[in-house]
Amino acid sequence: MIDLTSKAALVTGGGRGIGREIALRLAQAGCSVAVSDIDIATAQTTAQELEQLGVKALAVKANVADAVEVEGMFKEVLGAFGTLDILVNNAGITRDGLLVRMKEEDWDLVLQVNLKSAFLCCKEVARSMMKARSGKIINIASVVGLMGNFGQANYSASKAGLIGLTKTVARELAGRSICVNAVAPGFIKTAMTDKLSDTDKEKLSSNIPMQKLGSAADVANAVLFLASPLADYITGQVLTVDGGLVM
Ligand code: NAP
Repeated sequence: MIDLTSKAALVTGGGRGIGREIALRLAQAGCSVAVSDIDIATAQTTAQELEQLGVKALAVKANVADAVEVEGMFKEVLGAFGTLDILVNNAGITRDGLLVRMKEEDWDLVLQVNLKSAFLCCKEVARSMMKARSGKIINIASVVGLMGNFGQANYSASKAGLIGLTKTVARELAGRSICVNAVAPGFIKTAMTDKLSDTDKEKLSSNIPMQKLGSAADVANAVLFLASPLADYITGQVLTVDGGLVM
């Protein structure tokens, strides 16, 4: 049984999908959770669900690609909780297209939301975690950051970059007992993959050794483990949650 009752976490992009499930899983372990999202309405709905589990919850509106908003988000969360033990950099977007047709603005936006955001958030949280000499940072990457994917030059580059960032920050903060890891989901049933046609979904599943898409809960369970004391000696790792797609 994982007990996070004295801990406080921030989950970015926690209004829906995988982020919402991560927030719920952490709250079920007793953790206070701040849910940030660019869409405050969804963050508030998730925060209300968390409160019903009997934990402290906070909804924060922030575009994580914006340095000023990120700074404000950490001020608000630290003001409310006094400490931040767990940061989950989950917010992410796709703007798919073949390389030859990809617009520069779609490249820039995906890199900003998926990668620059994690740099900004890691930088903000590092100060308080270094002072506390403990902390867990979990970056939600993707298997496509390890293997590439047709039509996702921007997205796969952002996730590969996130893995590089994870390993470097892990090295820089290890001496202060701060663990920094990435979770790389495979293909997970969420709004992001609902956009795919049934034929594409079937094609995807047939390439997965376990022959099915994963669930947001599968990813959240991996995050809960890495956020817990069970993972105190694990840092700089990429944990794939993908039904065996990458091995
Ligand atoms: P999702 O359902 O689209 O949820 C993403 C959340 O992030 C949404 O609440 C979204 O807000 C929010 N968001 C988007 N841009 C933001 C910004 N600039 N600042 C703050 N919040 C922002 O996606 P998901 O499938 O749960 O994915 C979550 C993470 O897992 C992402 O990093 C994704 O790359 C990764 N992942 C997903 C899969 C998959 O198969 N689904 C696979 C591998 C990795 P809005 O509701 O306003 O858009």
